[in-house]
Order: sequence, then structure tokens, then C-alpha cells
Amino acid sequence: MRFEHVLVVGAGQMGGGIAQVVAASGRRVALHDEVPGAVERALAGMEKSLGKLAEKGGPTPEQVLPRVTPVGDIVGADLLIEAVVEDVSVKEAIFRRADEVLPADAILASNTSSIPITSLAAVTARPDKVIGMHFFNPVPVLKLVEVIRALQTSDETAAAIVALAEDLGKTPAQANDFPGFVSNRILMPFVNEAAYALMEGVAEAEAIDTIAKLGFAHPMGPLALADLIGLDTCVSIMDVLHEGLGDPKYAPCPLLRQYVAAGRLGRKSGRGFYDYA
Ligand code: NAD
Repeated sequence: MRFEHVLVVGAGQMGGGIAQVVAASGRRVALHDEVPGAVERALAGMEKSLGKLAEKGGPTPEQVLPRVTPVGDIVGADLLIEAVVEDVSVKEAIFRRADEVLPADAILASNTSSIPITSLAAVTARPDKVIGMHFFNPVPVLKLVEVIRALQTSDETAAAIVALAEDLGKTPAQANDFPGFVSNRILMPFVNEAAYALMEGVAEAEAIDTIAKLGFAHPMGPLALADLIGLDTCVSIMDVLHEGLGDPKYAPCPLLRQYVAAGRLGRKSGRGFYDYA
């Protein structure tokens, strides 16, 4: 099996889900987060998710969780999947450190939603082995992995990550390294326009989401989806799109910034466009 030992850095909603699907594929996972208690929270989330999936024929928590080891730092592995906050300086520091610690032939992947993979590759001495591996939330359920090639990514690295995504039971789709790649270049203007519609009083949040769900056959409305993604993450992605593409149409709606400033980050903080208390 390729990539027997995988290091996942960042044990938030995405890192926990990624660790779960990698461990469920039979691989060993080292899971690291800088915040005390984050890995334990992720393990509790995995136990709950695996329990539900086991009822539908998936592996049980007892089979999968022993393959996940909490680690206090970046450790050696065949593959890094980085899933920390959407902040370029934090991600670059992790790529620099992983480049020092992981063996020279290991691949370094980022789950970033929008940060250029090319610039993460440039801070390492192995730019050909750096790639974007963009999972979708909730990771154990959604099938897509957007595989993003940096300018420097080799064909061999891309092929290995496409094969891994398939082995995890996902469907890979390849994109080149432009701001927001494909997924968020399409999704974020949709979320942003919904936030403007709410701010300008065009409709209530529930009505906006109902229109998208029933009118466009989307499983969730854009405001509920933004709450799931995290409003802080949405704003960070829109900032990257705005700066990277230079078009004011990508600038985040002031209401989104205001909610983030108030700590209304969506589901993860208990309140965003909706109240989850
Ligand atoms: P999150 O806030 O739930 O989790 C981020 C985690 O990173 C936190 O647990 C935090 O403690 C940890 N962290 C921060 N700095 C760290 C460091 N230096 N070392 C180790 N851990 C550190 O965020 P999330 O929603 O899981 O997003 C993580 C990444 O995945 C982001 O790049 C985001 O853009 C991307 N992403 C998010 C979604 C989504 O729907 N939320 C979807 C696809 C991709």
C-alpha cells in the first residue's frame, strides 16, 4: 500500500475527517494540533461519525481509531496532509518544518481552500512533491477531492495523489493553481451574494436558503453551507480570491466580516447566520 504512514496536521473539522478516512483505508495516521485538547475532540468526533457509518456497513470505531495516534509535533511520515487554519504564514511554517522532518521522498499536501500551492511548494526543498489535496466537508461523506497542481508539481506526485484519493473511496478532479482553484471560485461568489441579499434585506436567511434548495436542487442553502464551512474560512478564501484575481467582485460582504469580528463563525462557534445553541 502506498502512503502507509500519513501525518495530518490540524485536527479541526477537516483534519479530523481526513484522519478518519485515511485510517479507515487501513493506513496509520499521526494526528497533530497545536491547541491542547483539539486532537481529543477530533477523536471523539471520529468515534461518533464512525459509529453512524458502521450502521451502514462501514468499519467500526474499534477497527479504525487504534490506527490514529496523537502526536505532539510534526513527525516523520510518507505523506503530510496539512489542514490548519486558512492562513498563509501558518501554513508556510508547517511546510518548512515538514520539509526538514519528513523523508526526502515524502509528499507534502495541503487541504487549503484557496492559498496558492505554488507558494507553499516554494518554501520547501522539494517543490515537485508539493500538491493540493482539497477534501470537502463533511469529509467522510462527500466524495470529491480537488487535486491541485502547483506550477512545480511533478506528474509522478499528481498521479500518486490521484491514486490515493481513489483508494480512499473518493473521486479526484484535477485543477491548476489559480486563486480559489475551481470549487471556491464558483462557490464563494454564490455565498457572498447570498450574504449581500441578507444584508440588504432582500429576504430572511431561511427564505434565501429555501430558494437555493428548492429552486436549484441544492442539498443546503448558501448561508447554511457558509455556517458549515466556517464564516472565518469563507472570509479568508474571499480575501485570497479578491487579492489573487484583482477583481472587486470577490471582496467579502461587510456582513460576513462583521459576523466574524463578533465571533459568529458558524456551526463551530454555535452561531453564524443561524443559531445552533
Ligand atoms: P478549523 O478551524 O476547524 O481547524 C483548524 C485547526 O488547525 C484547529 O484545530 C487549530 O488548532 C489548528 N492549528 C492552527 N494552527 C496550527 C499549527 N500551527 N499547528 C497545528 N495545528 C494548528 O478549520 P477547518 O474548517 O478544519 O479548515 C482547515 C483547512 O481546511 C483550511 O485551510 C480550510 O480552508 C480548509 N478547508 C475547509 C473546509 C470547510 O468546509 N471548513 C473545506 C475544505 C477545505
